[in-house]
Amino acid sequence: MAWEGIEGHDAIAADFARIVDSGRLGGAYLFVGLGGVGKGTFAQKLAKSLLCSAVESGLVSCGRCASCIQCDAQTHPDYEVVQKPVDRTTIPLETFIGDAEHRMKEGLLRRIWRKPALGGRRIAVILDADAMSDEAANCLLKTLEEPPDHAVIILVGSSLERLLPTIRSRCQIIRFGSLDVETITKVLLSSEEAPDELSAAAGARMAGGSLERARQLLDPAFAEFREHVHGLLSERPLRGVTISRDLTALVEAAGKESQPRRARLRMAFEFVIEFYREALRMSVTEMPIADATLRAGLERWSGEAEETSLLLGITLDALESIDRNANLTVLIDAWTALLERPKLSQHA
Ligand SMILES: [Zn+2]
Repeated sequence: MAWEGIEGHDAIAADFARIVDSGRLGGAYLFVGLGGVGKGTFAQKLAKSLLCSAVESGLVSCGRCASCIQCDAQTHPDYEVVQKPVDRTTIPLETFIGDAEHRMKEGLLRRIWRKPALGGRRIAVILDADAMSDEAANCLLKTLEEPPDHAVIILVGSSLERLLPTIRSRCQIIRFGSLDVETITKVLLSSEEAPDELSAAAGARMAGGSLERARQLLDPAFAEFREHVHGLLSERPLRGVTISRDLTALVEAAGKESQPRRARLRMAFEFVIEFYREALRMSVTEMPIADATLRAGLERWSGEAEETSLLLGITLDALESIDRNANLTVLIDAWTALLERPKLSQHA
């Protein structure tokens, strides 16, 4: 049985159990790894276990005590989870130190210093930690360096590079690995998210180690769009206007909210990245490509490795800048323009 039902990270759970039992739990942790592998869920289950009042030793939560019930309801007085608001690109400063009228009088950093209401510990989980504004991150530094004895702060992020070195150096870094195909298949089947073993395994293979991505891939609309995009990319010359129009339509279909629109574009770019990555891989190895639709597209693709890696780079840059761009249509247009004339990107 996986620890607290989270597949793939039992070794990390065992490490924490040992650390807790020997009384060596630190005050600041940074969980990093690919998105959608369970880091955030792990952090929240860890908090719940640390706060559970019924369990004496080991890293488990009873699920029945007042503390566990309050944790589940997100009403525990000594526990809070913060994350990037859906309509923002960063976690704002006020989350940490209160808004303009209540500077330093409210916010997570104020609360973490208060004595735990139920005794024991006070725990804060900061999801999307790599989306903290620099200002917010700088405010957090002092507390991370010398947290109060009762505090445990867990930062959860997907990219070490996007975190300030000063933040990284003040936390114990716990790396979460990608999930293997078998694990993802098992989860998709047991949760009945995949209709059968064949589609579970297919989704898992394409997911690149991320359960979240596998879930998205199981959505028939996305699977169809992926095939469509791979078809378009294999055409020479590239029809930039068509690609741009179809991506924009996909984003528009998500409605007006920023978060689902960005999620869709991210997914679309990942399909493109997958195509060029596999094309590069094909140019250096003889390994066959398991996925039939991708293989069909790549067999028509005739780009040289140099051009392919340029196109890959252009798309990786575009993916990186999704969160920085207010207008996704402009981003899509700029990206397709470069895709049509990749050499121009070298002089940009
Ligand atoms: Zn409990």
